[in-house]
Amino acid sequence: MASPLLGLKYSDINLLSDGEEVPRVINLNEKRCVEAVREFIDAGRAVCECEECILDILAVTLNNTPSRYIVNDIHMNCFGDPDHHPKDEELEKIVEAAGELVGRKPHH
Ligand SMILES: [Zn+2]
Repeated sequence: MASPLLGLKYSDINLLSDGEEVPRVINLNEKRCVEAVREFIDAGRAVCECEECILDILAVTLNNTPSRYIVNDIHMNCFGDPDHHPKDEELEKIVEAAGELVGRKPHH
C-alpha cells in the first residue's frame, strides 16, 4: 500500500530502530492514559477491578483519547512538555466515562 505522502511504502517505515526495542514513533498520550486509568483504579472508583475490566477501561480510554504521535528522538524531551492535549482534567473525564461504560457492560 503506497502512502500518498512522500511516495513511501508502509513497509519502508521501520517503527523500530535496528537492534533496538524502543519504538521510533510513540504516542505520548498512551502513557498518560495508562497512568490516568491506574489512578482511577487506585482511587477505588472502578465498578470491578478484575484484569479484564481494567483492560477494557484502558482500551475505551485509549480509543476516546486523541493520539499524539512524536518521533522518539534522543534529542527530544517531550515527556516534560507542559502542553498536554487533552488536559489532565479532560483525560480524567474520559477515564470516568470509560469506567462507567465498562461497569455497565462488563465482559463477564
Ligand atoms: Zn471485571
